[in-house]
Amino acid sequence: MSEPDPTSSCGDEVLAPVAGAPHPDTVAIRAGRADNDTALAPILWATSTFITPDVDQSRAMATGVGATRFYTRYGNPTVRGFEDAIAELEGAETARAFASGMGALSAVILGICSRGDHIVAQRQIYAGTQLLLQSVCPRFGIDVTFVDGTEPGAFAAAVRPGKTVLVVAETPANPRLDLVDLAELGALAGPITVVDSTFATPLVQRPLDHGVDLVVHSATKAIAGHNDATLGVVAGSEELISWLWSFAVLQGASASPFDAWNGLRGLRTLPVRLERQSSTAQRLAEFLEAHPAVREVRFPGLASHPQRELARRQMALPGGLLTIELAGGFDAGQRFVESTRVAQLASSLGGPETLVTHPASTTHVSLSPEELEASGITRGTVRISVGLEHVDDLVADLDGALAP
Ligand SMILES: *Cc1c(COP(=O)(O)O)cnc(C)c1O
Repeated sequence: MSEPDPTSSCGDEVLAPVAGAPHPDTVAIRAGRADNDTALAPILWATSTFITPDVDQSRAMATGVGATRFYTRYGNPTVRGFEDAIAELEGAETARAFASGMGALSAVILGICSRGDHIVAQRQIYAGTQLLLQSVCPRFGIDVTFVDGTEPGAFAAAVRPGKTVLVVAETPANPRLDLVDLAELGALAGPITVVDSTFATPLVQRPLDHGVDLVVHSATKAIAGHNDATLGVVAGSEELISWLWSFAVLQGASASPFDAWNGLRGLRTLPVRLERQSSTAQRLAEFLEAHPAVREVRFPGLASHPQRELARRQMALPGGLLTIELAGGFDAGQRFVESTRVAQLASSLGGPETLVTHPASTTHVSLSPEELEASGITRGTVRISVGLEHVDDLVADLDGALAP
């Protein structure tokens, strides 16, 4: 496990590269081109199957792991390019792409755990992951304990030796941008650890560098980055990904070559998009924090973030997401998200368009009032995914929407 570079700090500079290795920005440009032949841009292998030369090779591909020229549910050269690029950016041995972030998360959870096993999971987590853990896992006899991921030692305290096989964390976490200490998670002995790093992307943090076993992304978000792909990915060791691959082929949530192709396209500009979104988000966060209609702003780049020191330690950039608490509660939240004109009301994040969501009426609508409260969501919580519009237009838009 390598320590994070002490000179890197959230919002001020990007992660320093390992000596001699290219910067992540360069890796994002060059990665995932192994199967390009002489084409500069990735080739879209829009085919469900491949002509196999003979029975022996066909058998080898059907029984081996990760064949890319057998049948697309098993693997595909375009999808492989995307997987290679993510593995390289995450510092992982390999990766496997899925049809969505939930495809990736359900493969990790149901591919690793069996009846009688125990999972420790973070309470502050994407609502789909929470519902999978809380309503699907018990049906299969898998027991789940939820803990506060921001509390030091909480994961370790909930681990049952010999029983806990998986620890599931998300950082920064939905929807209040709570952080989990990656070094603490990576130091857990026993269970397999997985981090949903969707909000961060590999440009902001690399969980595997801290000793975490698996990193998951909804590449639907910032990685593909243009709101035109539904895509997930898991990166880690050859051993773990091979194990997951065997489950994934039967689960059937394999990535579509077209979405993987859009994922590769998105990766090329991920570093510049993130820098711009982070700096715009910083300005919006400071503006909103000073606004009387806003009770609280959560953003890892603000001095007021309760885990600001941890953000400095493990995140290269604060990212483009911020969450606000409106003083006027549910009605103020609804009015705000229906009043913005540049920012649009839609449930996603990480794309070029600034989007606003009101979790109490959308993403978290199926949670009970107690579960809402446990997730730190109030009726006035609004999440903003900052896009690539001009910052002055966004400040004016939010200011207008907050006017009484
Ligand atoms: C969107 C999201 C997911 C689910 O990804 P899909 O691609 O929509 O299936 C999982 N985790 C986080 C943090 C997300 O934002």
